[in-house]
Amino acid sequence: MAVLVTGGAGYIGSHTVAELLAHGEEVVVLDNLQKGHRPAVRAPIFYEGDIRDQELLDRIFDKHAIEAVIHFAADSLVGESVTDPLAYYDNNVVTAQRLLSAMKRHGVPNIVFSSTAAVYGEPEQVPICETDATAPTSPYGETKLAIEKMLRWCEGAYGIRSICLRYFNAAGAHPDGQIGEDHTPESHLIPIVLQVALEQRDAVSIFGDDYPTVDGTCVRDYVHVMDLANAHWLALQRLRKTKQSGIYNLGNGLGFSVRDVIEQARAVTGHPIPAMVVPRRPGDPAVLIASSQRAGQELGWQPQYDSLETIIASAWNWHLHHPRGYAT
Ligand code: UDP
Repeated sequence: MAVLVTGGAGYIGSHTVAELLAHGEEVVVLDNLQKGHRPAVRAPIFYEGDIRDQELLDRIFDKHAIEAVIHFAADSLVGESVTDPLAYYDNNVVTAQRLLSAMKRHGVPNIVFSSTAAVYGEPEQVPICETDATAPTSPYGETKLAIEKMLRWCEGAYGIRSICLRYFNAAGAHPDGQIGEDHTPESHLIPIVLQVALEQRDAVSIFGDDYPTVDGTCVRDYVHVMDLANAHWLALQRLRKTKQSGIYNLGNGLGFSVRDVIEQARAVTGHPIPAMVVPRRPGDPAVLIASSQRAGQELGWQPQYDSLETIIASAWNWHLHHPRGYAT
């Protein structure tokens, strides 16, 4: 029996593949390599292709006795989703519908879905609980929420069980230093700050310092990519053992401002990392902090790399040795 990982060449996907292999799982990766990186894939079985290609999906499901799917493949930038919402509905919602259709045809009972804190929009309270209202402020969050709902209906109709993992801010890299974050163009705070430390950029722009937070900059809950990867493995175990669907937040429950991140990166890298304040980025909530109590209780999830220093140091280890990402 094998696990199909869609988007297994991407950032969180590739770390999850490494985690699954470490637990002795048979892993099949499907990725169209639009954003993913072939060298990031450690699984021996790799298919380059699109989820919308039903023939390809049928071939994969027939050949490998797929028992569970972990679905990462998606577009994931808030700003881009606002300027091109239809691309997000196509790449996220349509692909999920195709994937679930194939799972239904082949009787695959389990799926772990890569969701996001963006489903909450501007939170009513922090830390955010899974039971809090969902009101996405971007097509990105909206498409992820639509898929979560699609999954719920699919359980009732076809018996496909799902665990949706709502990630907060993924960061860091594999401790072996061989896989890490590599986006083109890069838009995430921690890699951008580290690119400044590598002198690939002159300065980091702080998107607004007039938010209602301690220092006026946005506060986020940064969570290590290996801890996220481990949560997928735990989610898979839970689906197999309890056959229960669920939704889980994944964060450390601690908030750090943009200025905190820059300060910590200065300490880790020893570089002054110049910063300048620029206007707010549309769609950014002021504060996003997770309550991951439910993941702790039901999945047995306990983040191992939970300090901002550890997270930034592990990202720095990757960036320092791969200054041009996988092209290095
Ligand atoms: N941010 C920033 N400058 C940058 C990139 C990001 O000030 O060059 C801020 C952004 O506004 C947000 C936080 O850093 O408040 C984290 O942004 P990121 O894009 O890393 O993740 P997101 O919160 O969008 O998932």
